[in-house]
Amino acid sequence: MSGPGAYWYGKEEMEAVNEVMQGGYLFRYGSESNPKFLHKVSTLEKEFAQYCGANYALATSSGTSSLLVSLLAMGLKPGDEVIVPAYTFVATYSAIIFAGCVPVLAEIDESLSLDPEDIEHRITPRTKAIIPVHMLGNPCNMDKLMVIAKKHNLLVLEDSCQAAGASYKGKKVGTIGDMGAFSLNIFKTINSGDGGLVVTNNEKLYEAAFGAHDQGHKPNRFGVEVGARSILGLNFRMNEITGAVGLAQLQKLDKIVATLREKRSKLKKLIAGVGGFKFRVLNDPDGGDAATLCTVIFDTREQAVKVSKALGSKTIDQSGWHVYANMEHVMKHLEEVGQPHTKGSYPKTDDILSRAMNISVGVVDGGLGAGWGININSTDAEIEAAAIQFIEACR
Ligand SMILES: *Cc1c(COP(=O)(O)O)cnc(C)c1O
Repeated sequence: MSGPGAYWYGKEEMEAVNEVMQGGYLFRYGSESNPKFLHKVSTLEKEFAQYCGANYALATSSGTSSLLVSLLAMGLKPGDEVIVPAYTFVATYSAIIFAGCVPVLAEIDESLSLDPEDIEHRITPRTKAIIPVHMLGNPCNMDKLMVIAKKHNLLVLEDSCQAAGASYKGKKVGTIGDMGAFSLNIFKTINSGDGGLVVTNNEKLYEAAFGAHDQGHKPNRFGVEVGARSILGLNFRMNEITGAVGLAQLQKLDKIVATLREKRSKLKKLIAGVGGFKFRVLNDPDGGDAATLCTVIFDTREQAVKVSKALGSKTIDQSGWHVYANMEHVMKHLEEVGQPHTKGSYPKTDDILSRAMNISVGVVDGGLGAGWGININSTDAEIEAAAIQFIEACR
């Protein structure tokens, strides 16, 4: 099981890795005059920024570190509150907590991302930022979220870890708010095993994120800077092998997303008339969703359980560390900071997730509740067979 990028590993990735190994220079910084130094990481940064239409991109060790360095770059301080959806991968919460801040959870809507109607009453004088999460490749309702953020002077960090290649009203996700964080782990659209990227249009935020990711250094694409460093940082650098694989995968991203959109639309057409469920809401009117999954929301919990069981899958509320109530360690932390949560704290989210099921299209991941469906290499016959299986399970 993996994301679509891993299904399409090929000679491009192998040759890129070989090239780096033959040079024998694996560190992201080096001398431009050293022919063995291939600066894959800085090339990935340049090309990803271009791909997203962002001024800056920074490569990191993971999506989690991308979130953390972004929060540090935005100047969030201990005790600051950050609004996040009650449905997201655990890393969104842990990054906030390790930045010293308090995650303030909010409901999702039928797009399975942050419900813009459930945010304003959660804003306090301590609220500093919102993290919309483009869950399951589907862009959030960014127009409404940005209006709320502007009105209350909040920073916006788009958790785009599951949505590389997706766009909202013509803009790539990650470039609409102040910063965007991406992951290159195996379950994402493209991957290098692990790895991450941060994008921003803001030079100050870029510099601060760069420093946070590497011991306070000023951005320096090739060589390690020696000199005054005004801020503290840690080490969340990417290495050249990872950069080489990530760069090869990036060349395939558009084709991956186009292929997934085509396969999902075939599947949707075949199952649309069955009744008893709807497809989740896709916020981008131009079809900018990455199409990594096909999410269905049944009319009743009973039907959702029956169908997912018959297919050997599960309803989304059972998908482990993606649902707030299933994250015992996060719940424990929130209780310690005086914000006790239990299942039932977010009734709208609980209701939607208990009736929803993820059908894999590109991301095949049992942990996400998407262990059943099709994949990026599925043939028309396989898509038809899956549709028939689904329809039979619905009867
Ligand atoms: C995968 C993911 C992350 C974390 O990315 P890693 O590369 O695994 O650290 C963060 N947020 C969301 C929504 C994710 O899906």
